[in-house]
Order: sequence, then structure tokens, then C-alpha cells
Amino acid sequence: MVLLTLEHVTKRFEATGAPAVDDLSLAVARGQILGLLGPSGCGKTTTLRLIAGFEPPDAGRITIAGRTVADARAGAHVEPEARGVGIVFQDYALFPHLTVGENVAFGLPRSGRSARGERVGQILDLVGLAELVDRYPHELSGGQQQRVAVARALAPAPAVILLDEPFSNLDADLRAQMRDEVEKILRSTGTTAIFVTHDQEEAFTIADQVGVLDRGRLEQLGSPEAIYHHPATPFVAEFVGAADFLPGIVTSQGIVTEIGVFGNVEGREPGEKVRVMIRPDDVTFVPDPQGEAVILRRSFRGSENLYSLGLPSGHRVHSSQPSSAAFATGTRVRPEAHVLHVVTFPAE
Ligand code: ADP
Ligand code: MG
Repeated sequence: MVLLTLEHVTKRFEATGAPAVDDLSLAVARGQILGLLGPSGCGKTTTLRLIAGFEPPDAGRITIAGRTVADARAGAHVEPEARGVGIVFQDYALFPHLTVGENVAFGLPRSGRSARGERVGQILDLVGLAELVDRYPHELSGGQQQRVAVARALAPAPAVILLDEPFSNLDADLRAQMRDEVEKILRSTGTTAIFVTHDQEEAFTIADQVGVLDRGRLEQLGSPEAIYHHPATPFVAEFVGAADFLPGIVTSQGIVTEIGVFGNVEGREPGEKVRVMIRPDDVTFVPDPQGEAVILRRSFRGSENLYSLGLPSGHRVHSSQPSSAAFATGTRVRPEAHVLHVVTFPAE
């Protein structure tokens, strides 16, 4: 069942400039986690602010749980506090003068002191912070502060929770741990969530559906696997993982490129010129003095070596190899491509 919809939502901050959010349509099912992914300035925060009701859209409609909360044409605008939306801000925005318990209680209805206390206890148990109920934010670690922010957003049992780059203030170790914890909390409570990030790994790990934004436009909405293996545009292909593009020509035997012939799985017309997406995990090579390619560079990545291979045409492809396979720059090699998911784009 659909819980949240955006229909052709546009937001412009300057009358003449490009819109921050451009004709954005999407739907999120109840209990689903949507990751909105894109580079800085692509409109992620603005999208959340439109859903939360801090900004009115210039065009389009937003519904939450079947209710229209914003409709530019009809002039409808439900106030943020009446939308049933919980928000976790990038900097957590905890109230420094309130304890953990008071922070979490903040958004709960005023009526019934004991009911509030009970709810606060319940939600702090859920996020594993019950013992810290009387602490102040400055007495907490970054990860604990984040859990308080999540607890505060969840306490009123909102229809949907919005998280704006929630892990960006945590160091790498803690980020992975909090990612898992927050996902567990969202799943165990069946909470519908939208979280925004510029980190594709984060989006892939947590989200059921990933939406990729570029300059306010939704380039693609799909499962993490679909986004990675079947990117709809070159922008998506490059944003969600390393990608090289090699010229190819469609023939009756398949798509012929400099490093191999690939299946014409997309059914393109023979004679068509295309660009074939090649990911580093699609390419291997063997050292060969007669090889037509040369290693231009090796980047040690810890668990792998990433090689940049120069081809006779001047194009480059990358190849990721186990870090045990170390070859020197300048080594001549024979590249081999095993492209499991053939993706092509029209030639430029
Ligand atoms: P993201 O969160 O993806 O980094 P934002 O949604 O914050 O991107 O911003 C999208 C675009 O809208 C940017 O070009 C930004 O400068 C612009 N923008 C955001 N908020 C405002 C504002 N209040 N006034 C003017 N421009 C804004
Ligand atoms: Mg932002």
C-alpha cells in the first residue's frame, strides 16, 4: 500500500534560476525505506523539506497516508506539525538544555504525564539508551546523540520518518554500526522512511528502493541492484560506481568493442553506434609482452588493486583485482572483459 506520493513536484528558489526540485514524482510503500541519492546541491534536502511542509511546492502535489498535504494548484498546505512526519536532521538538532528523556518527550502530546513517561521509556529501550535518560546531549557520544535524534523522531509514531544525511557526522566505523542499528529500528517498528545521502554504499545497504537525483530531477528509481547493474543514464552509471564507457558498434554477432564482443541484450539495431558501460569488476587481464594494452596506473585500495589500463585507441578501462595481484605500471597486458550485465547508451 502506498503511503507517500509526490506528483510532479517542483520547487524554485529564484524566479529565473534552475529549479532545486524539478518535476519530481515518486511513491513510497508503507514500511518501505527509500534512499534518495545524489551529489551535493541536487535537491535532496529541499525534497525532504517539501515533504515535511517547511517549504510549499511551486507545482505538484504531495500526499501522506491518503491525505493531500500540499497541492500547489489547489493552494492546499498542511502545517508541518499536522503531517505526521518525523525528522532526523544532519546535525541531530537536539535541545542542549533538555535531558535525553525530555528531548524524546518533546514531540509527544501534552496530555497524560504517565503515558508520556511510558512512551519515552519504551522508545529509549528500543534504541538502547534507557540508562541515559537523565543525561544531557553534551554528555553523549556522537552515536548516542544520533540514537536520541532517531528516538525523538519516532516517539510520536509518525506515518513517515525523514532522515537527512543521518550518518555524515560519524566516523567510518561508527557510521557502519549506526547504519545497521538505525535500519534495525526502522524495520522492527515497520516505519516508512526516506533517507537522503550522497553515499551510494549507504543507500544500497539500507534502502529497498533507491532514487537517484541530478539537478533536481529523478534520474532513476529502482532496487539497489537495478540501479547498479542497469543504470538508466550515464549519470547514474558513474554516480553509483566506477564506470568506463567504450565505443561499440552493434552487429548481428553482438556489440563489438575494443576489448570484446558483448551480447546485444537490449535489442539495439545493427549498425547503431553505442557506448558500452564497463565496470572495474567486469575486466580482468593477463600479463603478455604482446598484449595490446598497458597498465597506466595501479591504485592500492586495501582489499583490491585498481588498475587503469590504456587501450590502443587511447580509451581507458579500469580493472579491479585482488590486492595479491600486483603488477607494475608499464606492464603490457591482454585485457579480458566478462560483462554480466551489458548496458549501452547512445553514442555521443
Ligand atoms: P542537497 O541537500 O542535495 O545538497 P539542497 O536541496 O540543499 O541540495 O539544494 C538544492 C539547490 O537549491 C541548491 O542549488 C541550493 O543552493 C538551492 N537552495 C536550497 N535552499 C535554498 C534557499 N533557501 N534559498 C535559495 N536557494 C536554495
Ligand atoms: Mg542537503
